[in-house]
Amino acid sequence: MATTTTTTIKDVNEKPHFPEQVTGMYILARALKNIGIKNVYGLVGIPITEAGYEIQGQGIKFVTFRHEQQAGMAAATEGYLTRTPGVLMTVSSLGMLNGLTATANATVNCYPMIQISGSTDPTMVDMNMGTYEQLDQFNAAKPYVKAAFRCSKAEDIPAAVNRAYRAAITGRPGGVYIDMTTPALGQVMNAADAEKLFYEPVDLYSEVAPNKASVDRAVELLTSAKRPAILLGKGAAYAQTDDNIKKLIETYNIPYLPMSMAKGLMPDDGPLSALSCRSTIMEQADVVMVVGARINWMLSFGKGKWNPATKFIQLDVEPQEIDRNVPIAAPVVGDLNLSLEAILAGLEGKKMAADPSWVTSLQAETKEKNGKFETRLADAAKLMPMNHWSALSAIKPILAANPDVVLINEGANTLDDTRDTISMELPRHRVDCATWSIMGMGMGSAIGAAVATGKSVVAIEGDSAFGFSGMDFSTICRFKLPVTVVILNNGGIYNGIGKPLDNTTDPAPTTLDIHARYDKLGDAFGARTYYVTTPDELSKALTEAISSKEPCLIDVQLAADAGKESGHIGYLNPTPLIPIEV
Ligand code: ADP
Ligand code: MG
Repeated sequence: MATTTTTTIKDVNEKPHFPEQVTGMYILARALKNIGIKNVYGLVGIPITEAGYEIQGQGIKFVTFRHEQQAGMAAATEGYLTRTPGVLMTVSSLGMLNGLTATANATVNCYPMIQISGSTDPTMVDMNMGTYEQLDQFNAAKPYVKAAFRCSKAEDIPAAVNRAYRAAITGRPGGVYIDMTTPALGQVMNAADAEKLFYEPVDLYSEVAPNKASVDRAVELLTSAKRPAILLGKGAAYAQTDDNIKKLIETYNIPYLPMSMAKGLMPDDGPLSALSCRSTIMEQADVVMVVGARINWMLSFGKGKWNPATKFIQLDVEPQEIDRNVPIAAPVVGDLNLSLEAILAGLEGKKMAADPSWVTSLQAETKEKNGKFETRLADAAKLMPMNHWSALSAIKPILAANPDVVLINEGANTLDDTRDTISMELPRHRVDCATWSIMGMGMGSAIGAAVATGKSVVAIEGDSAFGFSGMDFSTICRFKLPVTVVILNNGGIYNGIGKPLDNTTDPAPTTLDIHARYDKLGDAFGARTYYVTTPDELSKALTEAISSKEPCLIDVQLAADAGKESGHIGYLNPTPLIPIEV
């Protein structure tokens, strides 16, 4: 006869056995609540499972993932979009390292976030006793973060959380790590004593003002320019100083060129947008004001195509950014909001020396290039099977009609072609693989954007890119988020026509699955799904998906030969050895 076993599930909402006592996990949850954390992204297990429940108990939304890296991407995206740190919570060892990849990426991109990982008793780790999930996480994290703290006692937790928050957002924002040891998490304290640990940090973000001499120098240079331009980076979008940027550009009639995540800070299709004139700006502008952008690989280090006579004004909160690759004629170090206010005050009543034909010639160039681009899209729309441009010809008008949708974008050709095709109208509505140009931020960033903003999200993903985070599509479904994932499937990394060398019958290193039905993956989790092969079908599916405000997945069938090796950055390959026809 079968016996029935009753499993007793611990009622976590039950009051502690001794109501006057609390644990380190409770203190952690309270500390997060006290500093204003609204969402935590993570994945539980030993030793943080109960902490997850305590966090929910505080009324904080705990978004639980299938992989820590994606939870970290979500936290980082919240940090970027809200200018407050996103919080990632992981278990020890591999969970911590999985999350650390996202935290490192956040640091590189200047996104504020806090990774909190449970860890084994450090006294055992230090003695190399071979304890459960033994890893010196604290020291492993240090090279990848702005600051790291280790809590060995519950008493340290509130201060660690407050200091991590301040570190993440102060100066140049970035990732911060808190090593939350098992002894600290499990420590039991008298509730009244614990209560005394919490404090309200004063002046959490103190804006740093630029010095007057630097502002005067910048104003002098800008007003003397014959062919000025403003280069906007994602630091400018992050800084949320949109009105000052608009005022500077519109009052002084200065053309602007946005980096990819700065798109929308000023409208891509605005009269002063020089988006289509990147080379002309590099070759002809005499003064370029760089606002919240780094002159790194994405800007050819300020060399190459750049006119050697170009003078740079650079506005950045990080003094070490100045002169990194080119000498900066007028550095303005400070928080962008204060720097722009000071520059605007300095410009008051001054006349610009700009040549009026500069703007009109950029406008003429824009008109011509945009005309050619439209023809290219219209031609691609007739192709069967589709390529990236055919698909984007269908997506473009739909996103234009829904400007408040947050766009997440990753891939190689999918990234490049989407960035070039989709115009942004509003600030902080585009998140992509950013400074490292990584793959594997898609589902996490889509979730972070949806949770942090409450807006609808569309993620445009290459099939390869989607593979890195695809399982967390299930998180989108579990949390019923208004996210539509559009997968442009050309069956491979770059494309699906790689040919292996003669000695193997294995797939080529770049080959994936041209016939995969990604829509069925969505079916598994109850999403609305679509499989489309024409621009018309895609157009109908995307319109319906966005208006549903439900989790949706659209599998877009492209030709296997659509796309080229490494998209626009093929030149970075050391040797063009892989036999791919481009
Ligand atoms: P992009 O990739 O768009 O070119 P980067 O990430 O390279 O942008 O550069 C962003 C820059 O913005 C960084 O150098 C960072 O220090 C700076 N930054 C971030 N926040 C602020 C702020 N509030 N004030 C001034 N500069 C900021
Ligand atoms: Mg592909």
